[in-house]
Amino acid sequence: MATPAPVYRGRLAPSPTGLLHLGHAKTFWTAQARAQAAGGHLLLRNDDLDAGRCRPEFVAAMTEDLAWLGLHWVEPMITQSQRRSLYRAALVQLHAGGFIYPCTRSRRDVLAAISAPHDTDETDEPVFPREFRPATSTPLPPLTEPVTTNWRFRVPDGEELIFTDGQSGAHRALAGRDFGDFLVWRKDDLPSYQLACVVDDAALNITEVVRGEDLRQSTFRQLLIYRALKLNAPAFYHCPLITDERGVRLAKRHDALALRTLRTAGHTAADVRANW
Ligand code: GLU
Repeated sequence: MATPAPVYRGRLAPSPTGLLHLGHAKTFWTAQARAQAAGGHLLLRNDDLDAGRCRPEFVAAMTEDLAWLGLHWVEPMITQSQRRSLYRAALVQLHAGGFIYPCTRSRRDVLAAISAPHDTDETDEPVFPREFRPATSTPLPPLTEPVTTNWRFRVPDGEELIFTDGQSGAHRALAGRDFGDFLVWRKDDLPSYQLACVVDDAALNITEVVRGEDLRQSTFRQLLIYRALKLNAPAFYHCPLITDERGVRLAKRHDALALRTLRTAGHTAADVRANW
């Protein structure tokens, strides 16, 4: 008998750094529609690792606003800041496998080193210059606890990575050209988004990741982490982003389009859904 297909498990993964706006709402609604169509369900993950930018009042606001909009999730909310030991175990595994190296270069160093205009998506981070990497023969220092330096993933230069997006089809990227070595752990002892996201999506048995198109390029980085940790990657579906009247991508600073503002102005959830 054939093995039954895994039950669809999706997730909503907002970061509590501001109020949720129409853009989040539309992506999350798509996530719910896809879960329902597949007979599965969604989890809610609170991506609150960046302690400097995340605030508890935004966690309360996001759960309230999501429920108001008509989104449903099962199981208690998962909070990333409470799952550090899982991320640390993954870091130890990446270190043991020689996939990462410590890096003292700052963002400013990276920007200064990039003289040629590069044609990557402007929402994505700059390609980390190859000359900033230690040679592969450099002995790897031990991981400290706490971590006090940045650690980067060494991407396999020249390898083409491919994935099929459920929304927009096949996407390809060349490691080292389209994206470079990326952070897995920060010198303030926090896992990077890329690492925490992979560890959680795998640990929570997520079968499809539905999120905004701004994270599509990150999928290539995440696929490398899945492979290094010997984990199976989920399917991916990236939603087109909503822009404002000037064509600028909505951000948390667009408070006028925050769900909360629309609700206070008397709009119903159904109005919001009918107008995005
Ligand atoms: N928390 C991330 C964000 O708000 C989304 C992570 C994801 O969906 O992979 O940008």
